[in-house]
Amino acid sequence: MQRTASNYGYLGSLMIPESLPPSFGIVSESPELHIDFNRDPLIAPTHDSPHILIIGAGIVGMSAAWTLLDSGYKVTVLASHFADRVNGDRLTSQIAGALWEYPPAVCGHTSDVEALEIAKRWAMVSYHVFKYMAATPYLSDEYAVVMRDAIFFFEKPVNEDAKHLRKMREIERSGVSGFLHDKNLTHPFGIDNSKYVDAYKLRSPMIDTDVALTKITKLVKSKGAQFITLTLTGKLVDQEADLLQKYSTDAIVNATGLGSWELAGDENVYPLRGAMIRVVNNNQHFKKVTTALAVSAEAEGNIETKFIFIVPRGDGILYTGGFSEPDKTDKLVEDDPKIEEMAKDDERFLPGLDTSHRDPAYPVAQGLRPARHGDVLCQRELTYPLPGGRKGYSRIVHCYGHAGSGWSLSFGSALEVKTLINSALAGEVPEPMHKQAPSAISREQVADLKMLAPTRGEVGRAQVQVLALLLLNSVYRVM
Ligand SMILES: Cc1cc2nc3c(=O)[nH]c(=O)nc-3n(C[C@H](O)[C@H](O)[C@H](O)COP(=O)(O)OP(=O)(O)OC[C@H]3O[C@@H](n4cnc5c(N)ncnc54)[C@H](O)[C@@H]3O)c2cc1C
Repeated sequence: MQRTASNYGYLGSLMIPESLPPSFGIVSESPELHIDFNRDPLIAPTHDSPHILIIGAGIVGMSAAWTLLDSGYKVTVLASHFADRVNGDRLTSQIAGALWEYPPAVCGHTSDVEALEIAKRWAMVSYHVFKYMAATPYLSDEYAVVMRDAIFFFEKPVNEDAKHLRKMREIERSGVSGFLHDKNLTHPFGIDNSKYVDAYKLRSPMIDTDVALTKITKLVKSKGAQFITLTLTGKLVDQEADLLQKYSTDAIVNATGLGSWELAGDENVYPLRGAMIRVVNNNQHFKKVTTALAVSAEAEGNIETKFIFIVPRGDGILYTGGFSEPDKTDKLVEDDPKIEEMAKDDERFLPGLDTSHRDPAYPVAQGLRPARHGDVLCQRELTYPLPGGRKGYSRIVHCYGHAGSGWSLSFGSALEVKTLINSALAGEVPEPMHKQAPSAISREQVADLKMLAPTRGEVGRAQVQVLALLLLNSVYRVM
């Protein structure tokens, strides 16, 4: 029997129909996003419920696992690493800021108009989920999700900059809370208003990703998911039949982030290195910052971008960043000149900020965003005919390449995974990610970027080999 939110009081459950933002699935069915905060699944599986193997335990895999479990599926999650805070290793999903952002994100590197269009819808699904969590005191504490003002600053009046004006107008109409366009937003922070002449703000979810992913992982387990710690190698489609049989599953979700370079055989996947300083935000060394402050990257294409990203975390820590560097995989030392330059940029931007008082246990959060030329991909495996003379279509659903927006897009892409799993189980013909007619706004937003974005072939073979090695251990050890 399906329960309703009214059964639960503060625990609650969310059922967001895909049509809340307009429907975009590639199959006619439009399933609901079932997200329930109780320890048992919203819809209990029966002995003949489909069993799904999810590979990857970051936010993309875990949000998919969560909605599939609450929809009555059985789930096994297989990953090289799961979120925990015991041994100091963190998944990329734990390293993230994480500020919810309306796409494209401030860190840049957006290159595909259809993917951008889809990402906007996914972001709004996630927005409503996080907003609900933040508004429910018990959930806000347990999952460390809060809504705060996020202010975006600009060096030109937004009304005179077509790119930023389009994005601002979309945000204004998107259904986010607390939107305000006001050049005087610089004043309370003492930000140089001769340089930053315009600003707008919105209420945005901010997530303590360490707490949230650990909690989501525990919830997914309590709802009945089996966990297997294992690293897979080789293309999934070549081992699909073996995996389905070995784990007694009916379909597979690939949510391995950077691991998809190998598992999906997708050479468009690349790492986008980033770091943020974790500054003590306790009102002792500077006025406590309780608002996110950001300036978007302006440079685009497959090059390093710099941006201002100052995001308060619930635990008395301020994240200050940032940069994104394509195809760089080595780890930076804590006082690397790049990190110190980032600190100085942020201090120049926010008068009074002192980044020298860093969290001694975890001073710098750094990791590799799982980026992709062509942006995020959520689609069924297209190989046909299948290797080994297997009949029918693949039952693998790939979902990776979320770059700097994994949390922002999470629940929206989870809903897409569920739609595609249904399509795979129904034996439908797999199609490329839905190329729905993008809005003129997204088309124009991407037009400039496309001129600059190189193809995968421009990445050297050596870099690709470094990446392959790195993927064998896709976790960064905390500095
Ligand atoms: C510095 C920084 C700041 C960021 N800030 C934000 C932000 O403010 N907002 C936001 O939304 N996003 C942010 N991000 C981006 C966000 O972290 C990513 O988009 C997100 O973590 C991607 O999630 P994922 O589940 O795809 O990948 P991951 O978290 O990398 O998870 C991948 C999973 O797959 C497993 N895996 C990989 N390969 C294999 C294999 N071969 N076999 C088995 N398992 C495998 C891994 O063990 C892991 O469990 C930031 C990222 C960084 C680095």
